[in-house]
Amino acid sequence: MNKKKHGFGSTLHLKFIVVYIIFGFLTIFTTAAINSDFIDDHLIESAANSLYKSANITATEYLSSYFNDQLSNHDVHNQLNGIVSYSDASAWFVDTEGNLISSAHPDNHPAPPLVIEHFDPLEGNGALFLEGSYHDSFNAPVITVMAPVVNGFHTKGYLLLHKYVSDITSVGDILTKRIHVTSLIIYLLSFIILLAFELIIYRPLRVITRAATEYASGNLDYTIPVNTQDEMGYLSASLNYMSSQLKDMEDYQKHFVANVSHDFRSPLTSIKGYVEAIADGTIPPEFQQKYLDIILFETERLTDLTRDLLELNEFDTKNLLLNKTQFDLHEVIKYIAASFEGTCTKKKISIELIFAKKHLNVYADKSKIERVLYNLIDNAIKFSDPDSIVTVETTELGEKVLTSVKDNGIGIPRDALNKIWERFYKTDLSRGKDKKGTGLGLAIVKESIQAHGENINVISTEGVGTEFTFSLPKG
Ligand code: ATP
Ligand code: MG
Repeated sequence: MNKKKHGFGSTLHLKFIVVYIIFGFLTIFTTAAINSDFIDDHLIESAANSLYKSANITATEYLSSYFNDQLSNHDVHNQLNGIVSYSDASAWFVDTEGNLISSAHPDNHPAPPLVIEHFDPLEGNGALFLEGSYHDSFNAPVITVMAPVVNGFHTKGYLLLHKYVSDITSVGDILTKRIHVTSLIIYLLSFIILLAFELIIYRPLRVITRAATEYASGNLDYTIPVNTQDEMGYLSASLNYMSSQLKDMEDYQKHFVANVSHDFRSPLTSIKGYVEAIADGTIPPEFQQKYLDIILFETERLTDLTRDLLELNEFDTKNLLLNKTQFDLHEVIKYIAASFEGTCTKKKISIELIFAKKHLNVYADKSKIERVLYNLIDNAIKFSDPDSIVTVETTELGEKVLTSVKDNGIGIPRDALNKIWERFYKTDLSRGKDKKGTGLGLAIVKESIQAHGENINVISTEGVGTEFTFSLPKG
């Protein structure tokens, strides 16, 4: 059991940690994919694009007039200075041979050569820009864009713009650094999830598992100390409820078995005693009849008890099938009442039947209803004083038929009214009147009526009388 518990704990924990590590790796991989190269390439490309645009515009819109002598060197220089200040790049204006006409450059750029050695306008084979030290003019990598300056349909010169790669990519470096830091922070923050899992799910679950183990080993008194207002709390509340129900059931069963054994043992003891006494001659043959009657009485009691237990067991196992038919309730009542004739004459009790009509059909299980009536009339007679009347009356009420069994007997104390339906329950009042009863009769009555989907009620006043009323569907 312990081993199992441990296994459960470590697997859940382990699984979650594995998921967590996978999550960590995914975070690292994702951020690595957004690496600086990826960003730098993009930045260089777009910087080259905008450099090329400004070079081209300046070359066509402005510098071409230089070759008409419309612009002074000073004007050109100013224009180039403008480019330098807003694009942070060196601007070289050269003729087709590579001889410098004019130039401007930021402070951190080297001065241009007077002649670009091996100048080749087609260098780069049509690429938008060149990357490198541009003919060793720079000591760090630059990108170079080149725009032709055309005048009168002839290319007369070129405008070259150079920008340090490091200046372009510095933004990207900051960006990638930020991304890495952010993802690291996210990863660390996600430890909160792990912590929450530990506190909200894992620990309560362990407590609940422990409780389940306790229940399995028979300790139903264990209460789960999880009171949170969430699924864990509800689960443990349900389990606590379950264990209390099981406990009640266990108590009930112990009680039940104790009652049954007691009720079997006392008649058996008396039977054994009398039979032994008769066998060894302690009771002479002329007195035997009296004791044989007692033995017969006790045997009947045992038979009744066994029958009642079997019947209750039938209700408990729930595979009870009612054999419903249409029958005349009045006829059944008359028949049952007649079966009490002997007892009634002995006790001088009369049974009065009050029926509005001769026949009254109901739809129910006939044998069960016979038992119900038998038990109720039996009680009414048992708990009545001699010279009294027991009344059985039927009333039609809509689709129902109400049957009441009423007596003027000892009554049931108020605080016992709820308990009379319990198995083996007998009021203290009744013990003197009836020694044979086991207290199972009303339990069977109630189960029978409820199995029909109907109700039974009791009204009683101690010392005055009792009335039981149950309903049945009309036939
Ligand atoms: P059994 O029916 O098993 O022979 P029982 O009659 O004692 O035994 P129930 O019919 O279940 O048991 O009744 C339970 C208890 O309810 C009785 O013991 C008695 O105390 C009380 N009771 C039932 N009916 C009446 C009644 N008509 N008047 C007074 N008390 C009653
Ligand atoms: Mg009874």
